[in-house]
Amino acid sequence: AIAVRGLHKSFGHNEVLKGVDFFVDPGQVVCVIGPSGSGKSTLLRCVNRLEEPTSGEVLIEGVDICDPETDLDEVRSRIGMVFQQFNLFPHLSVLKNLTLAQRTVRGRGKDEAVEIARHNLARVGLSEKEAAYPAHLSGGQQQRVAIARALSMNPDMMLFDEPTSALDPELVGDVLAVMKELATEGMTMMVVTHEMGFAREVGDKLVFMDGGVVVEEGRPADVLSNPQHERTQAFLSKVL
Ligand code: ATP
Ligand code: MG
Repeated sequence: AIAVRGLHKSFGHNEVLKGVDFFVDPGQVVCVIGPSGSGKSTLLRCVNRLEEPTSGEVLIEGVDICDPETDLDEVRSRIGMVFQQFNLFPHLSVLKNLTLAQRTVRGRGKDEAVEIARHNLARVGLSEKEAAYPAHLSGGQQQRVAIARALSMNPDMMLFDEPTSALDPELVGDVLAVMKELATEGMTMMVVTHEMGFAREVGDKLVFMDGGVVVEEGRPADVLSNPQHERTQAFLSKVL
């Protein structure tokens, strides 16, 4: 579970998060939407402390990640992250991309790491690509490899920051299908996305951010069909 309470984040004089409360229960899929610059990525990055919160609380399975006593590496190893840019290692084969962190961070032996990697490549439908290099894959395939790589660390939860925004439209569906499958299997997920269809179909909750605050949240179908706040209405009228 993720619990964010009273989160503030400033960059210099620019206050980007102005008191955000945000919760993801175990097994829930929470989608986050909002205009550019509203603080979605900053919120997501505060969840595993890629950004240092200015004040407020971030609890991962009840553990405060800002507590100096917390083993940040241990907490991070339980949180998988997938970004808009796939961030694969270009000089490593797909299989090596999937085994590297398993071996260095998880301390797994080669055979075990390879077995887990193959299992996760099969989950994203790319078993036949294990020897390929990232440059020889489509964007959608690269993103599915990035998801398989994150899954190979056996995370308790996954954070996605606009995972399909860099993809050609015809490749988006394959990536969303993998994410939907993960959700069905019970993965706890926080997903920043512009894919309203995915949010409606797969999300348990939809959070609309604007200007560094959560303006509105609720069941996706309710928020999308019947937004209560005029800022939500204005945003949705532009994107739907
Ligand atoms: P987008 O939809 O374009 O991805 P976003 O909602 O994810 O937008 P953020 O990336 O969280 O927005 O950025 C919110 C604000 O914080 C922006 O004004 C941005 O310029 C600022 N910001 C983000 N990261 C930094 C940083 N490392 N240093 C300074 N300012 C930053
Ligand atoms: Mg962003």
